[in-house]
Amino acid sequence: MKLNEKGLLVIISGPSGVGKGTVRRALFNKPNHNLVYSVSMTTRKPRPGEVDGVDYYFVDRETFEKRIAEGKFLEWAEFVGNYYGTPKDIIDEELAEGKEVVLEIEVDGALQIRKNVKDAVFIFIVPPGKQALYDRLLKRGTESPEIIKQRVEKADKEFLLAHKYDYIVVNDDVDNAADRIMAIIRAEHAKTERS
Ligand code: 5GP
Repeated sequence: MKLNEKGLLVIISGPSGVGKGTVRRALFNKPNHNLVYSVSMTTRKPRPGEVDGVDYYFVDRETFEKRIAEGKFLEWAEFVGNYYGTPKDIIDEELAEGKEVVLEIEVDGALQIRKNVKDAVFIFIVPPGKQALYDRLLKRGTESPEIIKQRVEKADKEFLLAHKYDYIVVNDDVDNAADRIMAIIRAEHAKTERS
């Protein structure tokens, strides 16, 4: 039996444009949860409305590279020209306190954690159809056509990696998708350990 004295690391991942961020926000709006969000660090410029320390820690490339060299990331990846990484320091503390730490990250980073961390649950978010992915990226309107093209090409490759995850959640409806993730978290806590 797995003892439940420790929190759970929950990795929400999947191709760019599938609505991972929206699903994650819906998850945090659910009542009675014990979730904390791991704020990532990035070299991407803030989008309008994004707040430093809430959406991301926005840093320059030099600062990010220094942190890589110091081993301060649980994982990091370069995504369409920018660095993104999960700061390691506070996660262990939060897990020890019994919290569910939620990471919302792209596929390379998720697979790095897959290799290095035993106790984590990996959830792959997919859109109901590919058209939804293109529409979402276009509607967001924050990226140039060239960046959208690069993100869609990357997403096409990433779909093939779904089998490396524990669960697939179709984002047909944001609220339903969040409910399903909540159910997965509850199920993980009830799991027996098999070797
Ligand atoms: P965006 O620029 O749209 O905010 O994020 C681009 C991609 O980077 C998204 O797929 C997002 O989930 C991912 N991402 C955000 N934070 C991290 C992180 O800390 N590590 C990794 N590997 N990917 C991240």
